This record gives sequence, structure tokens and C-alpha cells, in this order.
Amino acid sequence: MKKDDCIFCKIANGEIPSDTVYEDDKYRAILDLSPAVKGHTLIIPKDHFDDLLSADEETLESVLKLAQRIGAAQLKALKCDGFNVVQNNGEAAGQTVHHLHVHIIPRYNGGAKMVAWEQLKSEPEEQQKIAGEIKAAL
Ligand code: 5GP
Ligand code: ZN
Repeated sequence: MKKDDCIFCKIANGEIPSDTVYEDDKYRAILDLSPAVKGHTLIIPKDHFDDLLSADEETLESVLKLAQRIGAAQLKALKCDGFNVVQNNGEAAGQTVHHLHVHIIPRYNGGAKMVAWEQLKSEPEEQQKIAGEIKAAL
């Protein structure tokens, strides 16, 4: 299903041109317009889902397989040394386009990394409590 006012619906379905690296009946993978690194690719389903929570079963199963293919192609074509697979849910997590997409970001030895957060110390009791809360919510 498409959403009228959604830019990624228009891009994925070819109404707005993009630098496409892959297309099939379900997906389009394009270069990010403002890449973190040259070759930064976005996998966009042609159907509209706001985020991971609203994605259907078929998309959940197939999107990571496509991420594997794009990552492998980046390693080969760009001679990068690794890649990040990133998917943001909600504005608090940095999501700016509210149509599900997966970032595949090439990475180079000695270059910038995705994980730049400060690592907190964990306390065993608190960890047990938090694990219990998440477990109970599943
Ligand atoms: P988010 O922050 O929602 O996870 O990622 C959205 C990404 O889409 C950003 O990296 C942004 O640069 C990219 N983007 C936003 N608008 C366009 C566009 O019109 N074309 C392309 N190719 N990328 C876009
Ligand atoms: Zn959309």
C-alpha cells in the first residue's frame, strides 16, 4: 500500500528519480542523498510501513536478506572493510523519514564508526530488573 504524501513511497515506486542500485517488485535500494560515507545505501520497501513495528511478516523476513546482498556488493565494489546495517524507529532514535528503510553504510579500517556512544557502567541488580521488565513485555 502506498501513502500519498510520502517521499519514500514516491522514490521506491519510481515517481521520483533516484540513484538506484537494486530493484525488484518489492524493494528499491538507492544511494542516500546526504550520505554518511560515499556509497551509503537505503533499502526501501515499495509498500508503505511507518517503521519496523508496522512491517509485515514477509518484509521482516526478506529485508535482512537484501541487506546481506547490498553489504556484500559494497565490500566488493567499494573495497570497504565492513558495513553497518542501521534502522531507526521513532524521532527519538533519529528517524526522519517515516517510511521503513534500512541503511547500509560502508566502513573503512581506521575510519569513522557507527558506535560512538559513551558506555555506561552496568550494575548486576539493575540489569536483572531491566531484563525482567523487557521479558515481561514480550
Ligand atoms: P532516517 O534518519 O529516517 O533513518 O534516514 C533518512 C535518510 O534518508 C537520511 O539519511 C537522508 O539523508 C535520506 N533522504 C532523505 N530524503 C531523501 C531523498 O529525497 N532522496 C534520497 N536519496 N535520500 C533521502
Ligand atoms: Zn511511504
